[in-house]
Amino acid sequence: MASASAIGKLSREEFRRQKDLEAARKAGTAPAALDEEGKPINPHIPQYISQAPWYLDTGAPSLSHQRRPAAAKPPSEIDSWYDRGARAGPAAKKYRKGACENCGAMTHKKQDCLERPRKKGAKFTNKDIQADEDL
Ligand SMILES: [Zn+2]
Repeated sequence: MASASAIGKLSREEFRRQKDLEAARKAGTAPAALDEEGKPINPHIPQYISQAPWYLDTGAPSLSHQRRPAAAKPPSEIDSWYDRGARAGPAAKKYRKGACENCGAMTHKKQDCLERPRKKGAKFTNKDIQADEDL
């Protein structure tokens, strides 16, 4: 079966056949289209809702573009506790490449550093390197 998005490429005969099928589905004389999970798609849903936009179109009839996508990670709640400002492990002894030029921690850049800006950063002095933050 051609997907609904291919209507512009159908011939007149195919278009009429599809329109007849649509009308029969609405009248209840033809079985409803099934989505990829095997659930019937309500034929009375308007085309502008049941048709997936081009960037979500899978080619098969489906209403999955209308559903909320399954979240990869549950959103953190405002009350959920985390160890604020915790630091991971002992600090390095030498400046490591790509670390913060101010304090020497690997987990942020100089622009995001919360340390006092040093006159000469840890990159140049190798002194008082801070431990990486626990993220
Ligand atoms: Zn820093």
